[in-house]
Amino acid sequence: MEYVEHVIDLIGNTPLVKLNALTEGLAPTVLAKVEYVNPGGSVKDRIAVRMIEAAEKSGELLPGGTIVEPTSGNTGVGLAMVAQRRGYRCVFVCPDKVSEDKRNVLKAYGAEVVVCPTAVAPEHPDSYYNVSDRLVREIDGAWKPNQYANQQNPRSHYETTGPELWRQTEGRITHFVAGVGTGGTISGTGRYLKEISGGRVRIVGADPEGSVYSGGTGRPYLVEGVGEDFWPETYDRDICDEVIEISDADSFTTTRRLAREEALLVGGSCGMAAAAAIQLAQRCGPDDVIVVLLPDGGRGYLSKVFNDQWMASYGFLPPEHSGATVGDVL
Ligand code: PMP
Repeated sequence: MEYVEHVIDLIGNTPLVKLNALTEGLAPTVLAKVEYVNPGGSVKDRIAVRMIEAAEKSGELLPGGTIVEPTSGNTGVGLAMVAQRRGYRCVFVCPDKVSEDKRNVLKAYGAEVVVCPTAVAPEHPDSYYNVSDRLVREIDGAWKPNQYANQQNPRSHYETTGPELWRQTEGRITHFVAGVGTGGTISGTGRYLKEISGGRVRIVGADPEGSVYSGGTGRPYLVEGVGEDFWPETYDRDICDEVIEISDADSFTTTRRLAREEALLVGGSCGMAAAAAIQLAQRCGPDDVIVVLLPDGGRGYLSKVFNDQWMASYGFLPPEHSGATVGDVL
Protein backbone atom coordinates (compact mmCIF):
# COMPACT_ATOMS: atom_id res chain seq x y z
CA MET A 1 0.00 0.00 0.00
CA GLU A 2 1.23 3.46 -0.82
CA TYR A 3 0.29 6.13 1.67
CA VAL A 4 1.64 8.68 4.12
CA GLU A 5 0.90 8.68 7.85
CA HIS A 6 -0.50 12.19 7.84
CA VAL A 7 -1.13 14.92 5.29
CA ILE A 8 1.72 17.03 6.74
CA ASP A 9 4.15 14.39 5.50
CA LEU A 10 3.39 15.74 2.00
CA ILE A 11 4.90 19.17 2.72
CA GLY A 12 7.75 20.17 0.38
CA ASN A 13 9.28 18.43 -2.64
CA THR A 14 7.15 20.60 -4.91
CA PRO A 15 7.60 20.36 -8.69
CA LEU A 16 9.29 22.66 -11.19
CA VAL A 17 7.14 23.60 -14.19
CA LYS A 18 8.63 25.27 -17.26
CA LEU A 19 7.08 28.57 -18.31
CA ASN A 20 6.38 28.61 -22.04
CA ALA A 21 4.02 31.32 -23.30
CA LEU A 22 5.19 33.99 -20.88
CA THR A 23 8.81 33.56 -21.87
CA GLU A 24 8.30 33.25 -25.63
CA GLY A 25 11.22 34.75 -27.52
CA LEU A 26 13.42 34.92 -24.41
CA ALA A 27 16.71 32.99 -24.34
CA PRO A 28 16.91 31.39 -20.85
CA THR A 29 14.95 28.49 -19.40
CA VAL A 30 12.49 29.82 -16.81
CA LEU A 31 11.13 27.27 -14.33
CA ALA A 32 8.37 27.87 -11.77
CA LYS A 33 8.59 26.24 -8.31
CA VAL A 34 4.92 25.55 -7.74
CA GLU A 35 4.22 25.81 -4.00
CA TYR A 36 0.43 25.57 -4.14
CA VAL A 37 0.75 21.79 -4.33
CA ASN A 38 1.76 21.77 -0.66
CA PRO A 39 -1.13 20.24 1.33
CA GLY A 40 -2.10 23.56 2.94
CA GLY A 41 -1.89 25.26 -0.45
CA SER A 42 1.19 27.42 0.05
CA VAL A 43 4.92 27.73 0.70
CA LYS A 44 4.10 28.59 4.32
CA ASP A 45 3.49 24.93 5.19
CA ARG A 46 7.27 24.57 5.17
CA ILE A 47 7.87 27.15 7.88
CA ALA A 48 4.92 26.02 10.00
CA VAL A 49 6.21 22.50 10.49
CA ARG A 50 9.75 23.66 11.18
CA MET A 51 8.78 26.44 13.66
CA ILE A 52 6.56 24.04 15.63
CA GLU A 53 9.15 21.25 15.76
CA ALA A 54 11.85 23.65 16.97
CA ALA A 55 9.56 25.08 19.67
CA GLU A 56 8.77 21.56 20.87
CA LYS A 57 12.49 20.78 21.12
CA SER A 58 13.32 24.00 22.96
CA GLY A 59 10.41 23.49 25.37
CA GLU A 60 8.65 26.72 24.35
CA LEU A 61 5.67 24.69 23.14
CA LEU A 62 4.54 22.00 25.56
CA PRO A 63 2.01 19.18 25.00
CA GLY A 64 -1.52 20.57 24.98
CA GLY A 65 -0.21 24.13 24.37
CA THR A 66 -1.84 26.88 22.32
CA ILE A 67 -0.37 28.51 19.22
CA VAL A 68 -1.23 32.22 19.02
CA GLU A 69 -0.21 34.13 15.88
CA PRO A 70 -1.41 37.27 14.14
CA THR A 71 -2.04 35.83 10.67
CA SER A 72 -4.91 35.81 8.28
CA GLY A 73 -3.72 33.51 5.63
CA ASN A 74 -1.22 30.98 4.49
CA THR A 75 0.87 30.75 7.66
CA GLY A 76 -2.29 30.14 9.66
CA VAL A 77 -3.31 27.24 7.44
CA GLY A 78 0.12 25.61 7.79
CA LEU A 79 0.16 26.07 11.56
CA ALA A 80 -3.40 24.74 11.90
CA MET A 81 -2.57 21.60 9.93
CA VAL A 82 0.50 20.80 12.00
CA ALA A 83 -1.35 21.69 15.22
CA GLN A 84 -4.09 19.22 14.32
CA ARG A 85 -1.52 16.43 14.01
CA ARG A 86 0.22 17.28 17.28
CA GLY A 87 -2.82 18.14 19.38
CA TYR A 88 -2.34 21.89 19.87
CA ARG A 89 -5.03 24.55 20.01
CA CYS A 90 -4.69 27.45 17.56
CA VAL A 91 -5.85 31.03 18.07
CA PHE A 92 -5.29 33.38 15.13
CA VAL A 93 -5.73 37.13 15.28
CA CYS A 94 -6.92 38.83 12.08
CA PRO A 95 -7.76 42.43 11.22
CA ASP A 96 -11.42 42.90 10.21
CA LYS A 97 -10.45 43.77 6.62
CA VAL A 98 -9.61 40.08 6.07
CA SER A 99 -12.35 38.41 4.05
CA GLU A 100 -14.80 36.08 5.74
CA ASP A 101 -13.77 33.32 3.34
CA LYS A 102 -10.20 33.46 4.58
CA ARG A 103 -11.30 33.37 8.22
CA ASN A 104 -13.59 30.44 7.46
CA VAL A 105 -10.72 28.42 6.01
CA LEU A 106 -8.85 28.75 9.32
CA LYS A 107 -11.97 27.81 11.29
CA ALA A 108 -12.55 24.82 9.01
CA TYR A 109 -9.20 23.42 10.18
CA GLY A 110 -10.42 23.80 13.78
CA ALA A 111 -8.64 27.07 14.62
CA GLU A 112 -10.22 29.88 16.63
CA VAL A 113 -10.18 33.30 14.98
CA VAL A 114 -10.23 36.59 16.90
CA VAL A 115 -11.13 39.58 14.72
CA CYS A 116 -9.75 43.06 15.54
CA PRO A 117 -10.75 46.46 14.16
CA THR A 118 -8.44 47.79 11.42
CA ALA A 119 -9.39 51.39 12.12
CA VAL A 120 -7.49 51.75 15.42
CA ALA A 121 -3.89 52.86 16.03
CA PRO A 122 -1.30 50.12 16.74
CA GLU A 123 -1.05 51.27 20.38
CA HIS A 124 -4.83 50.92 20.94
CA PRO A 125 -5.67 47.96 23.27
CA ASP A 126 -7.90 46.42 20.57
CA SER A 127 -5.26 46.59 17.83
CA TYR A 128 -4.16 43.48 16.04
CA TYR A 129 -0.71 43.62 17.70
CA ASN A 130 -1.93 44.28 21.24
CA VAL A 131 -4.65 41.65 21.14
CA SER A 132 -2.22 38.91 20.08
CA ASP A 133 0.30 39.94 22.77
CA ARG A 134 -2.45 39.96 25.39
CA LEU A 135 -3.68 36.51 24.34
CA VAL A 136 -0.14 35.13 24.68
CA ARG A 137 0.06 36.51 28.24
CA GLU A 138 -3.41 35.37 29.25
CA ILE A 139 -3.60 31.86 27.76
CA ASP A 140 -1.84 29.23 29.79
CA GLY A 141 0.75 27.39 27.67
CA ALA A 142 0.56 29.91 24.82
CA TRP A 143 3.37 30.18 22.28
CA LYS A 144 3.72 32.72 19.48
CA PRO A 145 5.71 31.52 16.45
CA ASN A 146 6.29 35.11 15.24
CA GLN A 147 7.18 34.39 11.62
CA TYR A 148 8.78 37.85 11.23
CA ALA A 149 11.49 37.15 13.80
CA ASN A 150 11.66 33.36 14.04
CA GLN A 151 14.93 32.16 12.47
CA GLN A 152 13.33 28.77 11.83
CA ASN A 153 11.45 30.51 9.01
CA PRO A 154 14.55 31.11 6.79
CA ARG A 155 16.11 27.90 8.13
CA SER A 156 13.22 25.80 6.77
CA HIS A 157 14.05 27.12 3.29
CA TYR A 158 17.78 26.61 3.81
CA GLU A 159 17.05 22.97 4.62
CA THR A 160 14.30 22.17 2.12
CA THR A 161 13.61 24.68 -0.70
CA GLY A 162 17.30 25.33 -1.46
CA PRO A 163 18.43 21.67 -1.64
CA GLU A 164 15.33 20.75 -3.67
CA LEU A 165 16.18 23.38 -6.30
CA TRP A 166 19.81 22.32 -6.50
CA ARG A 167 18.79 18.68 -6.94
CA GLN A 168 15.94 19.38 -9.38
CA THR A 169 18.10 21.52 -11.66
CA GLU A 170 21.12 19.21 -11.31
CA GLY A 171 23.10 22.23 -10.14
CA ARG A 172 22.30 24.18 -13.33
CA ILE A 173 20.25 26.93 -11.67
CA THR A 174 21.84 30.33 -12.34
CA HIS A 175 19.21 32.69 -10.86
CA PHE A 176 16.61 32.39 -8.10
CA VAL A 177 13.70 34.86 -8.03
CA ALA A 178 11.20 35.20 -5.16
CA GLY A 179 8.91 37.82 -3.70
CA VAL A 180 9.91 39.17 -0.30
CA GLY A 181 7.46 39.29 2.61
CA THR A 182 9.06 38.14 5.85
CA GLY A 183 12.13 37.47 3.68
CA GLY A 184 12.29 33.88 4.91
CA THR A 185 12.02 32.31 1.45
CA ILE A 186 14.65 34.43 -0.26
CA SER A 187 17.07 34.52 2.69
CA GLY A 188 17.06 30.78 3.44
CA THR A 189 16.88 29.48 -0.14
CA GLY A 190 19.32 32.14 -1.33
CA ARG A 191 21.88 31.40 1.37
CA TYR A 192 21.83 27.69 0.54
CA LEU A 193 22.16 28.25 -3.21
CA LYS A 194 25.01 30.73 -2.76
CA GLU A 195 26.91 28.39 -0.47
CA ILE A 196 26.53 25.27 -2.61
CA SER A 197 27.39 27.10 -5.87
CA GLY A 198 30.35 29.01 -4.45
CA GLY A 199 28.47 32.29 -4.95
CA ARG A 200 27.60 31.62 -8.61
CA VAL A 201 23.79 31.63 -8.28
CA ARG A 202 22.32 35.14 -8.37
CA ILE A 203 19.52 35.87 -5.93
CA VAL A 204 16.88 38.32 -7.11
CA GLY A 205 14.10 39.67 -4.90
CA ALA A 206 10.77 40.89 -6.26
CA ASP A 207 9.05 43.65 -4.34
CA PRO A 208 5.89 45.75 -4.74
CA GLU A 209 6.43 49.41 -5.62
CA GLY A 210 6.40 51.32 -2.34
CA SER A 211 7.83 48.61 -0.08
CA VAL A 212 11.09 49.03 1.88
CA TYR A 213 13.02 46.25 0.13
CA SER A 214 13.16 48.22 -3.10
CA GLY A 215 13.76 51.56 -1.40
CA GLY A 216 10.17 52.63 -0.69
CA THR A 217 8.68 53.93 2.52
CA GLY A 218 5.79 51.53 2.91
CA ARG A 219 3.39 53.29 0.54
CA PRO A 220 0.26 51.15 0.11
CA TYR A 221 0.01 48.56 -2.65
CA LEU A 222 -2.56 45.86 -3.30
CA VAL A 223 -0.55 42.71 -3.88
CA GLU A 224 -0.85 40.51 -0.76
CA GLY A 225 1.80 38.67 1.27
CA VAL A 226 4.84 40.58 0.02
CA GLY A 227 6.55 43.90 0.70
CA GLU A 228 6.87 45.50 4.13
CA ASP A 229 7.02 48.89 5.79
CA PHE A 230 9.72 47.69 8.22
CA TRP A 231 12.81 45.43 8.05
CA PRO A 232 11.97 42.04 9.61
CA GLU A 233 14.65 40.01 11.42
CA THR A 234 13.95 37.13 9.04
CA TYR A 235 15.29 39.12 6.05
CA ASP A 236 19.04 38.72 5.60
CA ARG A 237 20.31 41.85 3.84
CA ASP A 238 23.45 40.06 2.58
CA ILE A 239 21.65 37.61 0.30
CA CYS A 240 19.89 39.53 -2.49
CA ASP A 241 22.11 40.63 -5.37
CA GLU A 242 19.28 42.70 -6.75
CA VAL A 243 15.67 43.64 -5.95
CA ILE A 244 13.28 44.29 -8.83
CA GLU A 245 10.35 46.59 -8.15
CA ILE A 246 7.03 45.59 -9.73
CA SER A 247 3.83 47.66 -9.94
CA ASP A 248 0.47 46.27 -8.85
CA ALA A 249 -0.74 46.52 -12.45
CA ASP A 250 2.15 44.42 -13.72
CA SER A 251 1.78 41.90 -10.86
CA PHE A 252 -1.91 41.36 -11.52
CA THR A 253 -1.80 41.22 -15.32
CA THR A 254 1.03 38.68 -15.08
CA THR A 255 -1.00 36.67 -12.52
CA ARG A 256 -3.87 36.48 -15.01
CA ARG A 257 -1.51 35.48 -17.81
CA LEU A 258 -0.12 32.64 -15.66
CA ALA A 259 -3.65 31.23 -15.36
CA ARG A 260 -4.73 31.72 -18.98
CA GLU A 261 -1.50 31.01 -20.79
CA GLU A 262 0.30 28.54 -18.51
CA ALA A 263 -2.72 26.99 -16.67
CA LEU A 264 -1.16 27.99 -13.37
CA LEU A 265 -3.96 29.42 -11.21
CA VAL A 266 -1.86 31.27 -8.64
CA GLY A 267 -1.98 34.29 -6.33
CA GLY A 268 -1.00 37.91 -6.97
CA SER A 269 2.46 37.65 -5.43
CA CYS A 270 3.19 34.88 -7.95
CA GLY A 271 2.45 37.26 -10.81
CA MET A 272 4.76 39.77 -9.18
CA ALA A 273 7.62 37.25 -8.92
CA ALA A 274 6.99 36.01 -12.48
CA ALA A 275 7.03 39.59 -13.81
CA ALA A 276 10.44 40.07 -12.16
CA ALA A 277 11.67 36.77 -13.64
CA ILE A 278 10.58 37.89 -17.12
CA GLN A 279 12.41 41.23 -16.73
CA LEU A 280 15.50 39.34 -15.63
CA ALA A 281 15.22 36.81 -18.48
CA GLN A 282 15.40 39.68 -20.98
CA ARG A 283 18.99 40.28 -19.82
CA CYS A 284 20.06 36.60 -19.66
CA GLY A 285 21.44 34.10 -22.16
CA PRO A 286 20.46 30.63 -23.45
CA ASP A 287 22.54 28.77 -20.84
CA ASP A 288 20.83 30.50 -17.94
CA VAL A 289 18.30 28.65 -15.81
CA ILE A 290 16.04 30.98 -13.84
CA VAL A 291 13.83 29.53 -11.10
CA VAL A 292 10.92 31.64 -9.84
CA LEU A 293 9.04 30.57 -6.73
CA LEU A 294 5.23 30.83 -6.87
CA PRO A 295 4.04 30.93 -3.22
CA ASP A 296 0.32 30.07 -3.37
CA GLY A 297 -2.75 29.22 -5.45
CA GLY A 298 -5.26 31.58 -7.05
CA ARG A 299 -8.54 30.39 -5.52
CA GLY A 300 -8.23 32.78 -2.59
CA TYR A 301 -8.17 35.72 -5.00
CA LEU A 302 -11.15 35.03 -7.29
CA SER A 303 -13.01 38.13 -6.12
CA LYS A 304 -9.94 40.34 -6.64
CA VAL A 305 -7.26 39.60 -9.26
CA PHE A 306 -9.55 37.32 -11.25
CA ASN A 307 -12.57 39.63 -11.08
CA ASP A 308 -12.82 42.05 -14.03
CA GLN A 309 -14.77 44.68 -12.10
CA TRP A 310 -12.26 44.74 -9.27
CA MET A 311 -9.39 44.98 -11.75
CA ALA A 312 -11.13 47.70 -13.76
CA SER A 313 -11.89 49.72 -10.60
CA TYR A 314 -8.13 50.18 -10.11
CA GLY A 315 -7.45 50.70 -13.82
CA PHE A 316 -5.54 47.41 -14.12
CA LEU A 317 -7.35 46.04 -17.18
CA PRO A 318 -6.05 46.85 -20.66
CA PRO A 319 -8.26 49.51 -22.40
CA GLU A 320 -10.22 47.04 -24.52
CA HIS A 321 -11.35 45.24 -21.35
CA SER A 322 -11.82 48.09 -18.93
CA GLY A 323 -15.52 48.60 -19.54
CA ALA A 324 -16.28 44.93 -19.00
CA THR A 325 -18.54 43.63 -16.30
CA VAL A 326 -18.63 40.13 -14.88
CA GLY A 327 -20.50 37.85 -17.26
CA ASP A 328 -19.59 39.76 -20.41
CA VAL A 329 -18.09 37.60 -23.10
CA LEU A 330 -14.62 38.98 -23.73
N1 PMP B 1 3.45 35.47 -1.22
C1 PMP B 1 2.48 35.17 -0.34
C2 PMP B 1 1.09 34.97 -0.84
C3 PMP B 1 2.80 35.06 1.02
O1 PMP B 1 1.84 34.77 1.91
C4 PMP B 1 4.14 35.28 1.42
C5 PMP B 1 4.49 35.21 2.88
N2 PMP B 1 4.27 36.42 3.59
C6 PMP B 1 5.11 35.61 0.48
C7 PMP B 1 4.72 35.67 -0.85
C8 PMP B 1 6.54 35.96 0.83
O2 PMP B 1 7.29 34.95 1.43
P1 PMP B 1 8.31 35.26 2.60
O3 PMP B 1 7.51 35.65 3.82
O4 PMP B 1 9.05 33.98 2.81
O5 PMP B 1 9.22 36.37 2.18
